[in-house]
Amino acid sequence: MNIELDNIRKDFPILNEKVNNKPLVYLDNAATTQKPQVVIDAISNYYTHTNSNIHRSAHTLASNATELYENSRDTIQKFLNAKYRHEINFTRGTTEGINLVMYSWAMHNIHEGDEIIISALEHHSNLVPWQQLCTQKKAKLLIIPINEHGELMMDIYYKQLSVKTKLVCCVHTSNSLGTINPVKDIIEKAHLFGAKVLIDGAQAVAHAFIDVQALDADFFVFSGHKLFGPTGIGVLYAKESILNEMNPFHYGGEMIKTVSYETTTFNDLPYKFEAGTPNIAGVIGLGVAIKYVESVGFDFIQKQETALLQYATEKIQQINGLRIIGTANNKASVISFVIENIHTYDVGVLLDKMGIAIRTGHHCCMPLMESLSLEGGTCRASFSFYNTKEEVDTLISGLERVVRMI
Ligand code: PMP
Repeated sequence: MNIELDNIRKDFPILNEKVNNKPLVYLDNAATTQKPQVVIDAISNYYTHTNSNIHRSAHTLASNATELYENSRDTIQKFLNAKYRHEINFTRGTTEGINLVMYSWAMHNIHEGDEIIISALEHHSNLVPWQQLCTQKKAKLLIIPINEHGELMMDIYYKQLSVKTKLVCCVHTSNSLGTINPVKDIIEKAHLFGAKVLIDGAQAVAHAFIDVQALDADFFVFSGHKLFGPTGIGVLYAKESILNEMNPFHYGGEMIKTVSYETTTFNDLPYKFEAGTPNIAGVIGLGVAIKYVESVGFDFIQKQETALLQYATEKIQQINGLRIIGTANNKASVISFVIENIHTYDVGVLLDKMGIAIRTGHHCCMPLMESLSLEGGTCRASFSFYNTKEEVDTLISGLERVVRMI
């Protein structure tokens, strides 16, 4: 292991844990990423020294907490290259961001006969809301299919687009197969028909620099916990002009300007969409996580993840009876696989006994797994920049043992 990587691993205390008396090999980064000490400290320091409600009181703690909270918004604006800081709205995560768009935009803009296009790679959180909305509104849900490599069939997408298309919702990077979708092209083509586009960036933000202005995304959502930040915090980016037209999602404190018994005027962006006391510690922790990622740098992250993906792909396909599911040309550091005659759950449990954490099952993509005739879903190893080739070797020898055992 090189010194740089060795030092990075020291930033993540959990990587020294033992699981079932074995050194932890954490390969479930697509489910959630581990947290560096600076993030843990930021949360702890906030509660130890600054805890106070924001935007409300004149006292020092409140203004310190408000400053930390709003500084995070600036950090995220720069991280996504959003035009305005008020285009960054804090949510509980990707799921809530998508639901916010569904209730506050789509509910008022999708009508009978309209069409929404999603892809076959969507996580349930970017499928169920649109399916439910389409049922309620008598709109039609169209699905962009995938080819045998798990890549979107773009020629079919182009044909699905029409003046009836009002919204396209697409995952940037698939959590189940690792496919990185051509989102810029997806957005560009949808805009030709006047449709809005929502990009699910849950799996993208930890692996590559995202520029929402260059993408021209109308909505972009992600979760802090997949970006080395805390759980229960996420971001909805949306263009100012669209946010201004949208109705509030939740009603209550913070999101108001004036209230009488008869009527309410709503607050300015972004507070219009941040009703109630938010997850202040979560927002602060997320800001620190992003600064940490920036200090590591996407050059290092991509070099490391690409090397791990290549190395692991080469080795894993030599295992007897193992088949990789998802072989897209443009792929994130995720390997989904099945092993002949061994249930995915059994693979997961046996590896766990060796201290190796992978994910097994449908990965919240049930229709996709069904279409691939994978009832037990897949086993999924997902790598982050803090993983090592030695850990890949441990996974491979673990899988060889599993194959021998069964
Ligand atoms: N979309 C994708 C692609 C995901 O991987 C996930 C999390 N597995 C989600 C959406 C949902 O994220 P959250 O549970 O943090 O809301």
